[in-house]
Amino acid sequence: MQNHLDGRAVGPGTASVWAGESNQGDGEPTVRPISRGVTYGYTDLEAWTDVALGNRPGHIYSRNTNPTVAAFEEKLRTLEDGEAATSFSTGMAAISNTLFALLEQGDRVVSVLDTYGATNKIFNDWLPRFGIVATLCDTTDHEQLEREIAKGARVVYLESPTNPTLKVLDIERLARAGHAVGATVVVDNTFATPINQRPLELGADLVLHSATKFLGGHSDALGGVVAGRADLIQRLFHFREINGATLDAEAAYLLARGMKTLELRVERHNTNASAVAAYLADHDAVEEVFYPGLPTDSGHHIARKQMRGFGGVLSFTLRGGAEAVWRLLPRLRFANRAAHLGAVDTLVGPPSTTSHVELSRDERAAAGIPEGLVRYSVGIENVQDLIADLDAALAALGAGSAPA
Ligand SMILES: *Cc1c(COP(=O)(O)O)cnc(C)c1O
Repeated sequence: MQNHLDGRAVGPGTASVWAGESNQGDGEPTVRPISRGVTYGYTDLEAWTDVALGNRPGHIYSRNTNPTVAAFEEKLRTLEDGEAATSFSTGMAAISNTLFALLEQGDRVVSVLDTYGATNKIFNDWLPRFGIVATLCDTTDHEQLEREIAKGARVVYLESPTNPTLKVLDIERLARAGHAVGATVVVDNTFATPINQRPLELGADLVLHSATKFLGGHSDALGGVVAGRADLIQRLFHFREINGATLDAEAAYLLARGMKTLELRVERHNTNASAVAAYLADHDAVEEVFYPGLPTDSGHHIARKQMRGFGGVLSFTLRGGAEAVWRLLPRLRFANRAAHLGAVDTLVGPPSTTSHVELSRDERAAAGIPEGLVRYSVGIENVQDLIADLDAALAALGAGSAPA
């Protein structure tokens, strides 16, 4: 995998560290400072006008552009190898702005049933108010997806691997189907990260992230970002300038700092999650493990084709059902029980209280999410400690004792 930085082909570790960082002058800090200023002053009114009209580089007002935010966008643009990138206050702002900027009354969007819970809400509750039809297909049925796309779509919206059951979509195949009917193909790449998967290379027009997750990686900043075709990014940027879902400079700084270690962290997430998935798949108390890295997983074949690593998130069900899950989670020492994923610390939670809390029990069932599912986002701890922690908690389940 190659990234391009100032005309050189470099690896993602180099791109993460150097993209968006200026070569400073003598005596300047090597770390880009946080530009907190709301606005930028000009004595020369001609210069001000030129910058405002986009005829020369510079900044006018931080709702529109900001140097710290621009540095963060440049890191992600380089890592996804896109023509351009623009950022948003959260991942959901990136998703909702993308959909509302691309879709018009009477349009049709084709997607899958198990997108991120709040994305699912946009499809089911909000787009119909504007006369936009969202057709949500069975995530495992590529033939149905191709049939629905062939009927015509303005946008084909994909997410892979999906949250929380880690289903895998064949991005190249579905991008081809989308382009055959002139659709714009959008991929939520939050779970994979650009280290493991690059949707633009697979044919997508836009790739987006909740930067809140792996990109930032430290659970201390919210953000969203979209990269891809320059004309589309320009359209999203202009929509965001007006509706104001701007990323804050301090958050951009934290996200860009997190991204400097992205390759290191993701490599560790990949190996840790693979080991935990293999351990759980072997355990008697575990009913099913969902992780595309497992050779037995239904998505493994496609994942191997389009991913370089299988990511840090897995999910599983216990033979004891939801009741056993509720007894297991409080016993874990090295896991935060919280609605989040993709951080340095291991995070666990049932989708019914985390990613899919907005959905009713029936909607979750329709999306193929078992009520007894646990999402386990494997952190960068030492994996033998995580496995020992799970082992003790699972053993205590069998003993039926109360948590210590
Ligand atoms: C968390 C998440 C989002 C939403 O991101 P926020 O930053 O919380 O708004 C979107 N898609 C996926 C796959 C996510 O995991």
